[in-house]
Amino acid sequence: MSYREPLEETRLLESFANTIDVERGADLLESVEGMRAWLAAQGLPAHVTPHDLARARTLRQGLRARLLADGEQPDRRSMAAAHAVLDGLALRSDDPLAAIARAWLATTAGGEWPRLKRCPDRRCGWVFWDGSRDGTRTRCSRPPAASPGASPGPSGSAVLTVLRGRP
Ligand SMILES: [Zn+2]
Repeated sequence: MSYREPLEETRLLESFANTIDVERGADLLESVEGMRAWLAAQGLPAHVTPHDLARARTLRQGLRARLLADGEQPDRRSMAAAHAVLDGLALRSDDPLAAIARAWLATTAGGEWPRLKRCPDRRCGWVFWDGSRDGTRTRCSRPPAASPGASPGPSGSAVLTVLRGRP
């Protein structure tokens, strides 16, 4: 149980940002089918055209650019492109991306951005919610990807315990 739980809408943004998994080399927004699967898993309307897919990728790129890692320069072009998509959505309920736009607005209105973070490890880049008391967590606690054919690795907390035990 974390000290502070995110808004439901911010959870949706977190999940959307993580439709790309850098470490495992997987991207749900590589295809219309992948995007449909993600939307359906969120309980959202899943009628997706190739144009929707392109807009979703633009939105995600801007979202991930907004979730800066420490010392990174903001990618203003990505963010501007994402905002252009958001403006065009105009909160239409029949658009598969409308829920993302609403989540973006709710996250802004709720002041949730500072706790939605992107792991600064470039091989990882996982987006996570920082529910710590002081909001100073910088890295995700995701277990590392197991190499193909290997047995499942230890859980994230087990890895941390091992790391802490090192001199
Ligand atoms: Zn990470």
